[in-house]
Amino acid sequence: QAKASGRNTVRFFEQNMQQSLEQRLLMEKDLRLALKRQEFSLVFQPQVDNQQKIIGAETLVRWTHPKRGPVSPADFIPVAEETGLIIQLGKWILEESLSFLQRLSQSKATKNDLHLSINISPLQFRQSDMVADFSNALSAREISPEFLTLEITEGILMDDIADSSTKLEQLKEIGFRVSIDDFGTGYSSLAYLKQLNIDELKVDQSFIRDISSDPNDAAIVEAIISMSHHLGLRVVAEGVEEHPQLVFLTHQHCDAFQGYYFYKPMAEAEFIEALKKTTR
Ligand code: C2E
Ligand code: MG
Ligand code: MG
Ligand code: MG
Repeated sequence: QAKASGRNTVRFFEQNMQQSLEQRLLMEKDLRLALKRQEFSLVFQPQVDNQQKIIGAETLVRWTHPKRGPVSPADFIPVAEETGLIIQLGKWILEESLSFLQRLSQSKATKNDLHLSINISPLQFRQSDMVADFSNALSAREISPEFLTLEITEGILMDDIADSSTKLEQLKEIGFRVSIDDFGTGYSSLAYLKQLNIDELKVDQSFIRDISSDPNDAAIVEAIISMSHHLGLRVVAEGVEEHPQLVFLTHQHCDAFQGYYFYKPMAEAEFIEALKKTTR
């Protein structure tokens, strides 16, 4: 009986494997088509300062599949990464983000200069012509590099520290800003944080979630903010959903905030409306 159930378990497992492989191949095929059919779009999630004023946004990609509807980036970004499609997609995201930034600087919605953060995937960061690509994309438009923040994860940073270090130097030379996304979930060495040319840490939302009830999370976030400031880094808290989280973070002198408490990711028109409302 145990054997039988064991066999069933194995078969069930194999069926699942089969299914997920098929799903993956299907997704790969659909992702290729998606680029051609222009099924991707960008949304922008505002970032605010301690006065709750919008200081910029993070670009987040969206995919609306013609039959399946919206597909989460958490599901398709890894497939795009494994298949190399992220390179093409990443170029598109960069171009669209820059043209958004350009429209923003020309719009009358705000007098202030807003910055845009974009997520860089591991494969994208490792391309040998990555720095040149970014620099060229920028010089094709009248945008100053300091308004663009590149978000990379600790994993990317540590995966090839020599390459990371060289690229960060070059990116900084051009004037880009660099942020470490999902900070605290990876395995960065504090020694490298000091050495590498980084501007900002984004505290991962998993630490923010229970910040007002879990003393351990509170202690971790407090320590990250304090360490960052001593190292001259800005700190952005992601996933701020509730007022008590904001109170705690403000008390700890967190520099900027992003989360549903303020704004959800939104389309360009909605973002412009939000800007008009918050800047007088
Ligand atoms: P991320 O870069 O850490 O982005 C933050 C994620 O948290 C976004 O999910 C955002 O919608 C979500 N979020 C924002 N505020 C809150 C909040 O208050 N509560 C909660 N629970 N969630 C919040 P999203 O858009 O589903 O993206 C997931 C991940 O997919 C991103 O994590 C990023 O790693 C990746 N991704 C998204 N867009 C891009 C892109 O354009 N390029 C690349 N390479 N990766 C992307
Ligand atoms: Mg991010
Ligand atoms: Mg993040
Ligand atoms: Mg993430």
